Amino acid sequence: MKQMLVELKQGVPVVDQMADIIRENQTGKYRNLLLHVFSGIPDEQRVVAICRELEACCGTKLIVGSMSAGEIKDGHMIERGILVSALLFEDSDVGILRFDDVKGNEVATGIRIREALDAIPDLQCAEMLFPGTEMDTEHMYAEISGCRRGIHIFGGYPGGHKLNSPEHFVFDASGALYNSMLIVTYAGRNLHFDMDKSIGWVPLGMPFKVTKAEGKHLIELDGRPAAEVYEKFLQIDRKEHDNAEEAFEFPLMARQNGEDRLRSVVHIEEDGSFWLHGFVTEGMDINLTYGDPSNIVEKVNKRLDALRRFKPQAVLLYSCVVRKTFWEDFVDMEMAPFAQMCCTAGFHTWGEILRNDRTGELGENNITMLSIGMREGEAPEAELPEIRVDDTVLQGQASVLRRLTRLVYTTMSELQRAHNRLTIMAERDALTGLYNRGKIEQLINDALEGPGTVSLVMLDLDFFKKINDNHGHDVGDLTLQEITGIMNTEVHGYNTARIGRWGGEEFFIMLPGVDEAKVMTFAEHLRRAVDCHIFPHIGHLTISQGVITVNGNRDLDRKAIYKAVDDALYRSKEGGRNTIRKAVL
Ligand code: GH3
Ligand code: MG
Ligand code: MG
Repeated sequence: MKQMLVELKQGVPVVDQMADIIRENQTGKYRNLLLHVFSGIPDEQRVVAICRELEACCGTKLIVGSMSAGEIKDGHMIERGILVSALLFEDSDVGILRFDDVKGNEVATGIRIREALDAIPDLQCAEMLFPGTEMDTEHMYAEISGCRRGIHIFGGYPGGHKLNSPEHFVFDASGALYNSMLIVTYAGRNLHFDMDKSIGWVPLGMPFKVTKAEGKHLIELDGRPAAEVYEKFLQIDRKEHDNAEEAFEFPLMARQNGEDRLRSVVHIEEDGSFWLHGFVTEGMDINLTYGDPSNIVEKVNKRLDALRRFKPQAVLLYSCVVRKTFWEDFVDMEMAPFAQMCCTAGFHTWGEILRNDRTGELGENNITMLSIGMREGEAPEAELPEIRVDDTVLQGQASVLRRLTRLVYTTMSELQRAHNRLTIMAERDALTGLYNRGKIEQLINDALEGPGTVSLVMLDLDFFKKINDNHGHDVGDLTLQEITGIMNTEVHGYNTARIGRWGGEEFFIMLPGVDEAKVMTFAEHLRRAVDCHIFPHIGHLTISQGVITVNGNRDLDRKAIYKAVDDALYRSKEGGRNTIRKAVL
């Protein structure tokens, strides 16, 4: 196969500008000619007329067009141009499917698409051009995801240069389509694809939980209006007119089925909810992110390396408009190296779609660069040279930005580590590493709130004062650590068990879901384990225990529960120590 590009100029007949492609197509070597038209000029009539002219002069009906926020010609961005990318296939079957009236019929359309794709023999790949920013893509893509495994799917959302501009349309020779999906189908046993996404944006700060969302409408994070996140951390005011443009460069990152998916904010409502160019679901964790130039470059380099091994004959790049905004004058930097491999065309998108080969799931992305390598036939033996992003420019003008983002990132990771350390310190006992009294009490109280059975074991070391008196305080400390090891071993197999140090040499073990009979067995095992253990320096030691099982009787006063188990422990001491007593309520 072969890829050829033409940037159409005004005032010169299309047929003349397409001369090289027409000549190549007439050599008789090719079975199909597919034309992509990427237009940065939002002139419906003109682009449709161009499609008609192309159809006539190139003798192909395989033409798809998309409005573009920046056309990519051999790795360089053209602003507001019209780019034609010709893909000439020697022996593959290429087709175009069109689905109309998508909005409001997303699920039904998804089912039709899945069935249509499954019906094409030897289908290797489907490319979707689709104004999906305001559609219920979540449910539509769930249907499409069910198509045969092994079909690669990628695509992009068309759009104009400005945020919320109305020019979200695809087109072909029949007209501009605001509510349709065009799908290019690539079939044939000899046809190979290698596609992946590159992101590089880095999560910032702590994650938030999505507590209220409907598709692309994100309403609440951690139970608060979602926009508060932007107000609090980035001082982006929801009442300001251009708020979304500012939020744009700090997208959100969601984890969906093990994949990182970025979401850009396109509109912030006064009620504090906002609209995204990709769906989110309740219960997912979400982070603010920022673009770290060196990390982005690293991710692109990784992708270049994978694509180099694939040895493509043509590359399509579908890259998010936010990347263009982010890089400003340096946008070519991350695209140009692809063109060193082979002819490279594409456009800047308002949403990028890619199927996960592993899960089959069709994912919706923002801020992402998709690179799609294609090849007909086996890869040639010869290795392609190593290609990397030339980021020398980052050492110059952009270096302040790079250093600042590095500063933010390191500060943030250090804070995160400090936070984790503080959490541990606030919850754990320093000597034994067990939960401290405050934490174990909270865990027990939480468990008692629930409906299930909870058993508690309270234990105290026998004659521990003597150990301190006879061997010193240090040996006493070591003994407490030794006992901790025994308790930790004994709770193995009790997944939900929690141990806390209640005071000096008193401990609580909480066993949710363990009934009265089982907790007695547990306590007896523990008693024996300590009784049989030989402690360094002191030899033999025993413990006394009080146990209680609370069976859903939630009318009980907490204090009464703690008192009853404490009394049981006391009776155990009175009864000669090294014993277990059940609490009586
Ligand atoms: P009993 O069998 O009645 O429980 O006798 P006992 O000697 O263990 O009496 P009690 O439980 O009242 O004694 C607790 C002793 O534990 C008092 C204190 O010296 C010691 N102790 C408390 N916390 C620590 C600690 O962190 N390290 C050390 N080494 N000893 C501690
Ligand atoms: Mg004691
Ligand atoms: Mg004690």
